[in-house]
Amino acid sequence: MPVDATLPYDDSNIFAKILRGEIPCTKVYEDDHALAFNDISPQAPTHILVIPKGAYVSWDDFSARGSDAEIAGFVRAVGAVARDAGLVAPGYRLLANAGTHSLQEVPHLHVHIVAGRPLGPLLV
Ligand code: IMP
Repeated sequence: MPVDATLPYDDSNIFAKILRGEIPCTKVYEDDHALAFNDISPQAPTHILVIPKGAYVSWDDFSARGSDAEIAGFVRAVGAVARDAGLVAPGYRLLANAGTHSLQEVPHLHVHIVAGRPLGPLLV
């Protein structure tokens, strides 16, 4: 069920539980600002989710309320994950859903990193 990304952050979401260690994930990267783990239902040979450690619903929420340190740290973490996974060549795609029209399902900001095969056109 897509989420209403205008609602306040709800810490019962599944990624908040992963951050608290209440449910497991296949971790691929972690630092002070970000956690990255494999998507449970991969849409490509590589499908990694990168999430900020802070409580943010969406990219617009993060950009409005996040500190400069959190934002810089998160952006650097996304790049580090792509580099560490060896995705720079032949390339990868970043995607962050927000709200019902995008079909966002988990109301904690996450960037999808998809790669490992030609991905086709982005627009749908
Ligand atoms: P969204 O539609 O952009 O919100 O994407 C949510 C993503 O989270 C989907 O690609 C799901 O497969 C993924 N997902 C849901 N639960 C888990 C989990 O427990 N571990 C890892 N990925 C998950």
